[in-house]
Formats: sequence, C-alpha cells, structure tokens
Amino acid sequence: MRIVCPFCGERELGEFTYLGDAKPQRPAADAGDDAVYDYVYLRENIAGVMEENWYHGGGCRAWLKVTRNTLTHEISSVEPAAGAGARQVAK
Ligand SMILES: [Zn+2]
Repeated sequence: MRIVCPFCGERELGEFTYLGDAKPQRPAADAGDDAVYDYVYLRENIAGVMEENWYHGGGCRAWLKVTRNTLTHEISSVEPAAGAGARQVAK
C-alpha cells in the first residue's frame, strides 16, 4: 500500500504510522467519565470505507486523515488532519 501525502507526494507505507479511527472527537472537560471512556476505549470495527489518522514520520511529520477501504485498502482521499498544525497544502 502506498499513500500520497499532500506535502511529500506518493510514499511507501513504511514511512507512515497508523493511529486509528479519525472519527472519535475528544469530549469537553466537563463531559463526564462515560464520555471519556467511550472516547478512549470504544471503536467501530468497520469493514469498508473509514477515515483514519496516519502520521508521516518518515517525511514531513504531519498528521494526515486518510479515507481508506479496510477491505480493499483502496485510498480515496488524503488530507492534513485538522488541528495538526498543517491545515492547508502549500501550492
Ligand atoms: Zn508527508
């Protein structure tokens, strides 16, 4: 599998580190224990298209949001992950 980093171009998988599902959002500070538990421990086991966080440690060191089909490994989009300090790709 190869990932097309929006900053570095197409690179091999070994340059990236997988974090996991990009969908969970950190709960507010006063959200309570149940919300924190869900955020930390509960994940969907999706067979199909999902958004994932990947870290390009072997390149630009940016966090990326990769939309990938977990059954075929087909990647439909790669974009900078919001809040990772690199919201836009330099043109
Ligand atoms: Zn990169």
